[in-house]
Amino acid sequence: MNNKKHIAILGSTGSIGTQALEVIAAHPQNFEVEILTAQNNADLLIAQAKKFKPNAVVIANDDHYNKVKEALRSDNVKVFAGESAVASVVEMDSIDLVLTALVGFSGLQPTIKAIEAGKNIALANKETLVVAGELITGLARQKGVNIFPVDSEHSAIFQCIVGEFHNPIEKIILTASGGPFRGKKKNELVSVTKAQALKHPNWSMGAKVTIDSATLMNKGLEVIEAKWLFGLKPGQIEVIVHPQSIIHSMVQFYDGSIKAQLGLPDMRLPIQFAMGFPERLKSDFPRFDFSKYPSLTFEQPDTETFRNLALAFEALDRGGNNPCVLNAANEIAVAEFLNQKLGFLEMTDVVAGCMDKVKFIARPSFEDYQQTDKETRIKAKEMIR
Ligand code: MG
Repeated sequence: MNNKKHIAILGSTGSIGTQALEVIAAHPQNFEVEILTAQNNADLLIAQAKKFKPNAVVIANDDHYNKVKEALRSDNVKVFAGESAVASVVEMDSIDLVLTALVGFSGLQPTIKAIEAGKNIALANKETLVVAGELITGLARQKGVNIFPVDSEHSAIFQCIVGEFHNPIEKIILTASGGPFRGKKKNELVSVTKAQALKHPNWSMGAKVTIDSATLMNKGLEVIEAKWLFGLKPGQIEVIVHPQSIIHSMVQFYDGSIKAQLGLPDMRLPIQFAMGFPERLKSDFPRFDFSKYPSLTFEQPDTETFRNLALAFEALDRGGNNPCVLNAANEIAVAEFLNQKLGFLEMTDVVAGCMDKVKFIARPSFEDYQQTDKETRIKAKEMIR
């Protein structure tokens, strides 16, 4: 018998996926790779499959199917293709934990399928909870499934409340680095370039989340994610800018005591904590040294300049399908900014415009979310052209 956790990684070729495989490679006695999926990066998927020998791989873009199939012919790895295969492989009996490291709305359906199949989730795809937090958390409760956060802030909060599950939380304090444009005003942001926005001061991450960090939308999405993960009211969620990114977030309890989780910014730590829970596994990641950081500083977020954070609180307040609209509009806005079709500040205008224009649905079903996502993307594109 073996006690290894069998892991499915959805999005194994991205930033989170590749770091998760580093963690797995360092702990062969704890983990085994069961499934790997990738959108387009067939070459890296093939290399990962040859190294980790998963049961199966999925290439979502089926144009690459033959290439992957051919390359893995002699490796005894099953090869599937297409979006629907990503959503169905998570149901395999042999999987213990599904790491969802897909970007954007595309993470929603596979996550639902995995929960329905009773799999625990290590959630790196924050958009899933932003879009459909009520549906996802309700389903997880019903199926007795755990959702372990991978996002560093939510991992910090989770680490602070381990052992405190019966103690009421007064509030949580999400820390934000402030991104590359912290302290800048609107007139200085009109003409910032893609290259400038992609230079995050502390974290090395995928393009989507890096742009979201520069606009503070990332923190907005994380506020919504936190509400659902920890069952909080919007008034219990505070955001504070902490440029050094050493305190990853904090929890204030009913007695006024605050717990914080600290460490160097390194995504492997929250990934490893989510996959290893309840065990803390040994790591050789670089350690934090207080003598190198004589001051940890804090400031209020500038929501006049970075309106996205205020819009996220507003979407949370409106509820229903409004956070889904916020997310879809933002996905289009970020993609068009990266295509250099939209200015930095205009991303927020697209999101705000869509939040007002797309029809409100108070209690959306999964189909309503799909419809809202589709409709919002069309509206957002119309606003950009
Ligand atoms: Mg984060």
